[in-house]
Amino acid sequence: MRPSFVADLYEYPDPNRYYMEVTITPVDTLIMFTGAERVLYTNKSGDVLDTVVFRLYPNETAFGARMEVTHAEVNGQPVTPRLEAGRTALVLPLPEPIGPGESVEVTLEFYVAIEKGLQSGYAQFSYVHHILATPDFYPVLSVYEDGGWWMDVGPDRGDAVYSETGLYEALITVPAEWTLVASGEEIASTDNGDGTITYHYVSGLMRDFALMASDNFSRMTGTVEDIEINVYCLSDDFDGADDALRFAQDAIEVYNTHYGPYPFTELDVVETPTRAGGIEYPGLIVVAEDVWVPGEPFFEVVVAHEVAHQWWYSQVGNDQVRYPWIDEALTSFTEYIYTYYVHGEERAEEYMEGFRSTYLGYTGSGGRDLPIGMPVSAYDDREYGVFVYRKGAVFFYALEQELGRDTLLEALQTYLERYRYRVARPEDLLHVFEEVSGRDLDEIFAEWVGANVIEVSES
Ligand SMILES: [Zn+2]
Repeated sequence: MRPSFVADLYEYPDPNRYYMEVTITPVDTLIMFTGAERVLYTNKSGDVLDTVVFRLYPNETAFGARMEVTHAEVNGQPVTPRLEAGRTALVLPLPEPIGPGESVEVTLEFYVAIEKGLQSGYAQFSYVHHILATPDFYPVLSVYEDGGWWMDVGPDRGDAVYSETGLYEALITVPAEWTLVASGEEIASTDNGDGTITYHYVSGLMRDFALMASDNFSRMTGTVEDIEINVYCLSDDFDGADDALRFAQDAIEVYNTHYGPYPFTELDVVETPTRAGGIEYPGLIVVAEDVWVPGEPFFEVVVAHEVAHQWWYSQVGNDQVRYPWIDEALTSFTEYIYTYYVHGEERAEEYMEGFRSTYLGYTGSGGRDLPIGMPVSAYDDREYGVFVYRKGAVFFYALEQELGRDTLLEALQTYLERYRYRVARPEDLLHVFEEVSGRDLDEIFAEWVGANVIEVSES
């Protein structure tokens, strides 16, 4: 954490605490992860819990790998978990139920097998072109809310993860020739003398923990204030590194100034084979190889977008499967904010016009018009981009037209401050905007986001 945010470590109530030791080994056509984690979970609900649920994301079809938990203990006592939700949810029975404020320590031994070259979903979890991309490679605590554990599985499009803030300590052992990149900060490394190196990472209050690696990465570094930015790309693509660095610096400066400061000491920008353009993880963003091209206009957009997710998703979390608009619409709108402050008003208005014409072009040529506030599964592939991203950005622009730039930014600053490290729901966003503007915004939210937001907010 940056010095001005260290106090948050003591103020955020009961973060999930992860300690893991994982060894990554190439074996023939596979990359194998073997390891164990010890997780301290505190019941933050008002209910008595008799189970704790972890998500095994590598088993999702969009991840396309195989994950097994081979041994499980709760407070030192072996337990037999059951798998649900297509092997993506590990349900652990607790020998003793835990009441509100009580904790359990869970130990899990696990492995993950990744087939080299296989590109499922957006190739977000893969080993392709000598790049290992492995977000959420460990059992991730699920979220307990509304009387139950979250066990949704989204479609292959969109982001899969919904998680609460944790503190991570990780010892990751890899072949010595690999460069390893992870959320958080590297505090030590040990050469094991057998062709492997163990890297020791710790994180601040982070939503999850991602890992990328390659035996062919080159690195370029820069700073914004006291934040270190590390750019990693394939050595052949190093001519794109200074663009990536400059875009990331500009983005952090704009968002620090207009939304509120980034709390972590580091941000990594990594080139990977993803087919999604880019993807966000806490403290780490990835940019697709085919976008990583100097002079390619989409390169700047992707970096500005993924860096914006460090505010909307990483800092203020949300259920990305049920309410993707909370982070994606706001992040797409932030591309406009970025363009405004980096390239000026005219370019920004043209940029917003692009969003508007994509949206209106779609509905004007026979496509149905949908609200932006539905789950990922309610849209088809095309609609997901048109409504959640484009129409979603136009919605925040309409709010700005209604309230003015100053009020809009003040509302977003308040929203960030109040929900930083936490999870926001649609009604939370609505309430902050109403509180800051002193206006009743039910109608505009109902019109764009959907009537369900208002029903929930008033029940
Ligand atoms: Zn996004």
